[in-house]
Amino acid sequence: MNTGGSKVKVWVRIRPSSNFARDAIELQNDSKTINIHHKRPDKKCVVNNQKLDWSFQLDGVMHDISQEEVHNRIAADIAHSALNGYNGTLMCYGQTGAGKTYTMTGATENYKDRGIIPRAITQLFREIDEMLGNVVSVRISYLEIYNETMFDLLSTLPESMAVMDQVTPLTVHEDPEYGVYVKGLSCHLAQNEEEALNLLFEGETNRAIAAHTLNKMSSRSHCIFTVYMETHSRLQSNAKYLLSKLNFVDLAGSERLKKTNSAGKTLTEAMYINKSLSFLEQTVIALADRHRDHVPFRHSKLTHCLKNSIGGNSNTLLIANVRAEMQHMEETVSTLRFATRMMCVEVKPAVNQKFDPNRLVLQLQAEINELRNELAM
Ligand code: ADP
Ligand code: MG
Repeated sequence: MNTGGSKVKVWVRIRPSSNFARDAIELQNDSKTINIHHKRPDKKCVVNNQKLDWSFQLDGVMHDISQEEVHNRIAADIAHSALNGYNGTLMCYGQTGAGKTYTMTGATENYKDRGIIPRAITQLFREIDEMLGNVVSVRISYLEIYNETMFDLLSTLPESMAVMDQVTPLTVHEDPEYGVYVKGLSCHLAQNEEEALNLLFEGETNRAIAAHTLNKMSSRSHCIFTVYMETHSRLQSNAKYLLSKLNFVDLAGSERLKKTNSAGKTLTEAMYINKSLSFLEQTVIALADRHRDHVPFRHSKLTHCLKNSIGGNSNTLLIANVRAEMQHMEETVSTLRFATRMMCVEVKPAVNQKFDPNRLVLQLQAEINELRNELAM
């Protein structure tokens, strides 16, 4: 997975349904191909020249697959690589109700229904315990982007206050060495699995409280849960260390404005989502076209935050969550079209290796001593 250039990996997860549209969806035995036969509902004044059949080829299609299996198949490798210095990004894309949050977070109260994030946390701390020669420090942040405003889901300030007083608004910055980061976003040390899971739980609770007090729907915001890892050798004379981060992105519902039939506040929300998701799409198209020199990362907070993660040096994976009922077929096709576009984006995973200047002095001294000893012999 980590050698040379490769493409963004794209998997589809179909939400289980007792109303599976067997006439419209055909899953091929290769577990990679979905064929869709769908006639759009007739619309007045529209010439009937619409496409009826689609065939989508992905890196994998998951149907009737447990949460544990989803983690093992698609997230475990990326989490493991993150401990070896590679950045990783997992994103869920799809219409509201398709299973994005279930896939990412799952039901925290039910062990078997836990999603990718809690499972990756468990895996990371288990692997850290097994790394005898290294010390790993883990930090966590949780960011929400709603109507182009960023909120810290782990801040001690209630979100409603942050909105009203505009206390230290979060802003996206770029550092030539460390890449994109959100200034003002709190980053919390997690010394073990339990502390990390508590941070996830706290963020989820704040997301729910803010959704309630500000009367907003959580499906209308993008959430990015990030785990930052710094791995140092136990040998003081080893100056090399690894720096990596794992982003888990639960995107806002991708359903289009025309379907929402909304007005007022809901319309504003829908417009922001449509905008940021279409900028995401434009970014993906620009990245997939190698001849384009301009990629519109800065056009939205979401794409700016993900600048180093889509088409950068990250192991990037997209999960397209879709529904299998006939009435959702148009959205399912639109999600799968986005998903196949994403498969054209190249990524160049690379180890993020740094040198600790204090240790470098020790390391060089040790090397000089070794050379002196050799000369004296
Ligand atoms: P989204 O975040 O895309 O809006 P959710 O993750 O909230 O959708 O899922 C909508 C509902 O469907 C939830 O009640 C969730 O528990 C259920 N659900 C989604 N995917 C699955 C699945 N693979 N298995 C069982 N239930 C699921
Ligand atoms: Mg959701």
